Amino acid sequence: MTPTVVIVGAGFGGLNAARALRRAPVQVVLVDRNNYHLFQPLLYQVATAGLEPEEIARPARAILRGQKNFDFRMVDVTRVDFAARRLETTGGPISYDFLVLAPGGETNFFGLESMQRHGLGLKDIPDAIAIRNHVLTCFEQAMLEPDPEQRRTLLTFIVVGGGPTGVEMAGALSELIRLVLVKDYPRLNIKDVRILLLEATDKLLAAMPERLREAAVKTLWRKWIDVRFGAQVADYDGKQIRLKSGVRASPLNATLDLPASRQGRISVEPTLQVTAHPEVFIIGDAAYQEHNGEPLPMVAPVAIQMGRFVARNIKRRLRGQPLEPFRYRDQGTLATIGRNAAVANVYGIKATGFVAWVMWLGIHIIQLIGFRNKLFVLINWAWDYFFYERAARLITRD
Ligand SMILES: Cc1cc2nc3c(=O)[nH]c(=O)nc-3n(C[C@H](O)[C@H](O)[C@H](O)COP(=O)(O)OP(=O)(O)OC[C@H]3O[C@@H](n4cnc5c(N)ncnc54)[C@H](O)[C@@H]3O)c2cc1C
Repeated sequence: MTPTVVIVGAGFGGLNAARALRRAPVQVVLVDRNNYHLFQPLLYQVATAGLEPEEIARPARAILRGQKNFDFRMVDVTRVDFAARRLETTGGPISYDFLVLAPGGETNFFGLESMQRHGLGLKDIPDAIAIRNHVLTCFEQAMLEPDPEQRRTLLTFIVVGGGPTGVEMAGALSELIRLVLVKDYPRLNIKDVRILLLEATDKLLAAMPERLREAAVKTLWRKWIDVRFGAQVADYDGKQIRLKSGVRASPLNATLDLPASRQGRISVEPTLQVTAHPEVFIIGDAAYQEHNGEPLPMVAPVAIQMGRFVARNIKRRLRGQPLEPFRYRDQGTLATIGRNAAVANVYGIKATGFVAWVMWLGIHIIQLIGFRNKLFVLINWAWDYFFYERAARLITRD
């Protein structure tokens, strides 16, 4: 009988694993709670009204519809019964011969219940829409607010975390406000707007070389972003943030009854197998592996490479060959901080400013899935660049 490979998660890891198994003598069943693959690196542009959600996401069925051995189920996985080789899901049980777990991560609120209740995470489309609604609503409320102090409070925005997402989010928010909203709200005083970027350590973009980190801080300052280092968030009541000092693995990891490492990620064998269950593999943000003594970062290239690699190891297993250890090829990092401004450390090439920004644009367009998405994102970016616009400035209701 044809063995069934069940893949949990249609993110970067799961999708690449499914594609790489297209000619393997297996039935591939991809499951996800959403019916789409989401390009998370551009999610902050949905949150800042630059792009529409459908421009950075694509239905999993559409992406893989030409693949004969492929099937998709839109279900939430609630538990894995390793002994019975079966998933429990909201749509009933699904049996597997091989299981690839690629459920990604969730926003890390550092165990702060108050932050979880009042803060806004950025992990999926509804999160991005909630941020967009919130920012635009704050401006509408500020227009109605007679008290200057209250108005300034409404126009204070805090981004927590100085990794690439926090830096990109702060830069895009500043440009949305200072280049676009300033035209929509001519009666508001732009000097009342404050954007703070809080970072717990003494470094932004920790994975970047020092020269690029310094360039990023200077660019943020030029965009009127108040960067605070050593700022750990201890509590947030919806109005005030108290300072004390990202992402953690998917909550599915906690249900697996397997020993978790840092950030809730599960340690896997070099072959990406789960130690006690060799037919189960964990990849992407959910997996913990070290590279040169450091944990592999929770970034798309790690998930993509693991996805392709796990398919190779499953094929080796089917042929009765020994499995190989995974080796990460670090391609570097990039972060954009708005128009003509980015920092890039890619394949050893270090660049800042306009050159890095063009590299960032090119790499993101190439990586976006689907020709339609590439075209629409390019048109949107060109429009916004030349006309200082953000088309998606709608406050929508749930
Ligand atoms: C806002 C943001 C910006 C980012 N920017 C960058 C960047 O610029 N560059 C970069 O390299 N990386 C970036 N990342 C990180 C990158 O997106 C992740 O490392 C990558 O998506 C991990 O891939 P994955 O396959 O492990 O998980 P994901 O891509 O997160 O996919 C996981 C999938 O599993 C599904 N799922 C989870 N739990 C269940 C369940 N119980 N049942 C069913 N389905 C489930 C989810 O719906 C999701 O589709 C960013 C992340 C975020 C959130």
